Amino acid sequence: MKIINNGNLKLAVQKNGRLTENSIQLLRNCNLDIEKFDDRLLISIRNYQLDILFLRDDDIPEYVQDGVADLGIVGEDVVQEQNANVKVVKKLDFGKCKLGIGIPEDVELNDIRALENKRIATSFPNILNNFLIRNNIKATIITISGSVEVAPSLGIADYICDLISTGNTLKLNKLKSSITVLDSEAVLIKNKNLIKSSDKYQSYLKLLGRIESALNARNSKYLMMNVPQNSLSIILKIIPSLKSPTVLSLAKENELAVHAVIPAEKFWEIVDDLKSAGASGILLLPIENIVL
Ligand code: ATP
Ligand code: MG
Repeated sequence: MKIINNGNLKLAVQKNGRLTENSIQLLRNCNLDIEKFDDRLLISIRNYQLDILFLRDDDIPEYVQDGVADLGIVGEDVVQEQNANVKVVKKLDFGKCKLGIGIPEDVELNDIRALENKRIATSFPNILNNFLIRNNIKATIITISGSVEVAPSLGIADYICDLISTGNTLKLNKLKSSITVLDSEAVLIKNKNLIKSSDKYQSYLKLLGRIESALNARNSKYLMMNVPQNSLSIILKIIPSLKSPTVLSLAKENELAVHAVIPAEKFWEIVDDLKSAGASGILLLPIENIVL
């Protein structure tokens, strides 16, 4: 594949799959102006020295390893399976899934040793092989490229090792989930030879900073409320603030406004306590970026 060498940083993302939407959303949260890309292989970002390459996810680790792309966003499962020689820079908190052993519904499997001498079908032979070696277990790995879950009913394998999210596909095939082999999520990977003194490296560091601030912001919310003056100390104890909350006076006497940045998942745990302590006009707002 021929790619223009315009000196821009090149980031590979999945073209059309489970990681595409979240990858693009994360980059947009970094204030990158990403136009419609439809069937294009490569787009240049108007407001950053960056080109985005759209690829099959299986191709991303190798392209980053070989320097065709400087960076990539891809599942940890794919990086590990290919044993690509790239640096995993950051976990991105989406595309979470589990690579696990699926077993027939009527089998009880609580001990890894029960995998001994079994035939396990998978499209992740390298990850499974490393897992078996680490646990000192001898089993037969049967490599299949798709629809691994039908292998036990066809009599080709005893168990499977596959990506499991809800377990519904397993259930349809009279299988259930057991031992976890790998917890995976999307990661940012980097070519190991990116030269530290280069302009590209500076663009990379700046982009990484923006990604980190976007990730911090995603998990946080801005909480605002009015509180009676005499409830202030109780309310401040309830708020799980990341930094000290801001307390502002209001035109109305004996009433204050309290603002705080809180972990998003805490809101529903504290809202009833805040109301009982006298808080009113409670607002929860999204935050675009947090620079720590
Ligand atoms: P491509 O056409 O790019 O090769 P694909 O079909 O190989 O796509 P997807 O199914 O889009 O890949 O999955 C991409 C990644 O999403 C996986 O490698 C994995 O990291 C992650 N993922 C998250 N949840 C799941 C899930 N429930 N099943 C499979 N993969 C999942
Ligand atoms: Mg793929």
